Amino acid sequence: MATTRRPMVAGNWKMHGTRATARVLGGDVGRRHEDARVELVLCPPLVHVGVVAEALGQSPVALGAQNLARWTDDGAYTGEVSGAMLADMGCRYVLVGHSERRALLGDEDAVVAEKFAAAQAARLLPILCVGETLEEREAGRSLDVVGAQLRAVIDHCGVAALADAVLAYEPVWAIGTGRTAAAEDAQEVHAHLRCLVAEQDAKIAGSLRILYGGSVKPGNAAELFAQADIDGGLIGGASLNAGDFLSIAQAAAQTQSH
Ligand code: PEP
Repeated sequence: MATTRRPMVAGNWKMHGTRATARVLGGDVGRRHEDARVELVLCPPLVHVGVVAEALGQSPVALGAQNLARWTDDGAYTGEVSGAMLADMGCRYVLVGHSERRALLGDEDAVVAEKFAAAQAARLLPILCVGETLEEREAGRSLDVVGAQLRAVIDHCGVAALADAVLAYEPVWAIGTGRTAAAEDAQEVHAHLRCLVAEQDAKIAGSLRILYGGSVKPGNAAELFAQADIDGGLIGGASLNAGDFLSIAQAAAQTQSH
C-alpha cells in the first residue's frame, strides 16, 4: 500500500565528541544532504547543540536533542534543560524515553510521558523510543512491553498528541551491539504499534512515522526500510560517520513508497 509518510533518519550521537568534531560532522552532513525525499535529524550532545546549529546554517537537516526536563517552567531544577530552552537553541525534535535513559537514568514510563508532554508544550516534536530487553523478547513479551510503553504516553497525553510526534522501535538488545532485528520481526512490532494507535485513531496511525533503531548500518538499512511499517531509522553508532549516515539516509529515500 502506498503511503504519504516521508521517511526520516535521525542520528543520535549519544555522549560523543568535542565542539570541533561536532562542528565538522554537523557541517559535513548539512552540506552533503541533498535528497528532499528523506528528512534528516541530528541529535548531538546538548553541549554541542549550538555549534551544530551554526554548522548546519540554512541546511534542511533538522536539529534535535537527546533529552529534556520534565518541567516546563523555569525554576530550581539544577542541571536540567527545558524544552523551551531547546527550542530557543534551534531544536525541532527531542528524543524521549531512549532505552539508555530508561535503564540508567530513571526515565520510567511516567517520567517519559511527562517529558513527552513537556516537549509538546514547547512545540518540539518528541521522538518516543520504545523497545524490549533480550529477556523480554525471549519470554515472548515484546509486543506487550512496547505496547505498555506506548500506552503510558497515550494515557497521559491523549492519542491526538501522536499527530505531532514520531515513534521509534528500538529493541534494547540491538542497540550498540551489532545485532539487528530481522526485518520481518521488526515489521511485526511496527505493525503492532501502528495497530494500537489505529484502535483509537486510524488517521493518526496512518500518518505516524515509526522508525527502527538498533545497529542499523549502510549494509542492512535497505532491507529494514523496505518493510511496510518502517519509516526510517534512529541511528546511533553509524551516525558518527557522515558517509555511513548519509548512505543510510539514501536507503530510506529510495524506499519512500512501499
Ligand atoms: C541508538 O542509540 O538509538 C541506537 C540505535 O544505537 P546504534 O545504532 O548504535 O545501535
